[in-house]
Amino acid sequence: MRTLCEDIKESDIGKEFTFKGWVMHYRDHGGLIFIDLRDYSGILQIVFDENIEGESFKSAKKLKNEYVVSVAGTVRKRPDGTENTGLKTGNIELLVKSVEILNICEVLPFQIDEETEVNEFTRLKYRYLDLRSKRLKDNLIFRSKFTHLIREFLNGKGFFDIETPFLTKSTPEGSRDFLVPSRLNKGRFFALPQSPQLFKQILMVSGFERYYQIVRCFRDEDLRADRQPEFTQLDMEMSFVETNDVISITEELFALIFQKLLGITVFRPFKILDYDEAMDKYGSDKPDTRFELIIHNLTDIFANSSLNVFKDNIQKGGVIKAICLPDGVNLLSRKDIDELLNTVKEFGAKGLAWTKIGENNLLEGGISKFISDEERNNLIAKTGAKNGDIILYQSDSKKIAENVLGRLRLHLAKKYNLIPEGRFDFLWVVNFPLFEYSEEEKKIVAVHHPFTSPSVKDLNELETDPLSVKSDSYDLVLNGEEIGGGSIRIHNPGLQEKIFKILSIPDEEAKIKFGFLSDALGFGAPPHGGIAFGIDRILMILRNEDSIRDVIAFPKTQKAYCPLTDAPSSVNETQIKELGIKLRETTVI
Ligand code: ASP
Repeated sequence: MRTLCEDIKESDIGKEFTFKGWVMHYRDHGGLIFIDLRDYSGILQIVFDENIEGESFKSAKKLKNEYVVSVAGTVRKRPDGTENTGLKTGNIELLVKSVEILNICEVLPFQIDEETEVNEFTRLKYRYLDLRSKRLKDNLIFRSKFTHLIREFLNGKGFFDIETPFLTKSTPEGSRDFLVPSRLNKGRFFALPQSPQLFKQILMVSGFERYYQIVRCFRDEDLRADRQPEFTQLDMEMSFVETNDVISITEELFALIFQKLLGITVFRPFKILDYDEAMDKYGSDKPDTRFELIIHNLTDIFANSSLNVFKDNIQKGGVIKAICLPDGVNLLSRKDIDELLNTVKEFGAKGLAWTKIGENNLLEGGISKFISDEERNNLIAKTGAKNGDIILYQSDSKKIAENVLGRLRLHLAKKYNLIPEGRFDFLWVVNFPLFEYSEEEKKIVAVHHPFTSPSVKDLNELETDPLSVKSDSYDLVLNGEEIGGGSIRIHNPGLQEKIFKILSIPDEEAKIKFGFLSDALGFGAPPHGGIAFGIDRILMILRNEDSIRDVIAFPKTQKAYCPLTDAPSSVNETQIKELGIKLRETTVI
């Protein structure tokens, strides 16, 4: 019926074809009218000449942007000097013999593919128009190839693609649930799954051994650029595996994706960092390792500091940590240093001490006069600082100092372009603590989720010193973004119960919430483990986008609202009654 714009080549010159698509960039040059015709494959220049017999030129006069047309004619070479090297079809054009207008288009709320500032609400309201733009269309076509490749790879490795329910029960991934009231069981609610965690473990108990699913997950949390209330995971689970098996299949998958879709050979095995080391050196459990700026622990060096803030802090059990900014003297003016103080305060710091390294390794400015020769020599040896560098210090609790310097590290890297372009750095972070103390909830909570296995070597400390226990868990980090995470699971019901106790989940509550999993574990659960990857976030990085909304066909706004469909919307009183519920509050959008 038709040929695609980018399917024709110079060897087709002189042949006749029919193309169908949308009118872009209408240009009237008197006796000649040009349009760019766009279909999903790309763009082809179309020429209407008033000297060509028939009605085509007259019809062309009626065309407007985004009209849908069918054009038939002869492919010809563009006249010398009018080629467009930016287009795949830039050396050829179609001289039209006949044109049919298949549909007209209303006045556009914004021009497609033009770099005009249009607010996101309008773009999302007319998402179908925005999706006509090359950038978004290419993103979604890339996404389709990406998921196809994943499926092909995992099917080839003996994985089964098994669907799990959306109308289900709360899954504890640490977020708020979306609830769905049940009409048939009034007063009861389904929760949309935060992940298929419990079901995939149950599938292992059922003996499937290798499961995967590209699945939607729902988490009702405050949104940021890299979060949506519904997002897609590649979810995997395997029986009879250890951490290394999960790591190895993941690396094989990502190496394939990078090779096939980006033409990039990734270096394997990926780097592995212990959680403790990640926090110590990068102040983050998802370090961006594309650049150095490592955090140094200087606590020992300053144990007897003449600076009271340092000394008192160390005596209270705090730490002195610092980063050394190479060539900082040229990068940071006095004013910049003052501004950095405000920046670190936003990160939760109390202050920001600094020193410059001058000639002969002498320290200048900031706190330099409080640093003895011995401290200085140790400092230079430890940080490797050179003439012209600036050292930026934090004296605080370990948690605050690492968090502040971790964020300062990223801030400086972005500000001073220290991140190499086009580089992809994969990193595994392993050996996370099993638990942490939540100040908010005033109790011990799971760092991953309550089904994560403790490290066997720490089992004896489980009851005596739970916060020291590590877990058999792993996160995959790409360029400083956590793109996946998982763990070896508990397969022993007794151990699972013990964990619920440590998490202060009363027996009754554990039974109601996860009783079905505990029951299942009791019926011959194999050792198992798995992982899940955030597909949207990965695509955002691979496509070099700033927001996951740009790799999702129909995303929601920051307020979890869909301007296209006006969802969520109000429903009528009868529907509410049928569900056996009453409204207490309503929001006006
Ligand atoms: N269910 C976990 C998550 O969504 C991943 C996993 O442990 O496999 O983060």
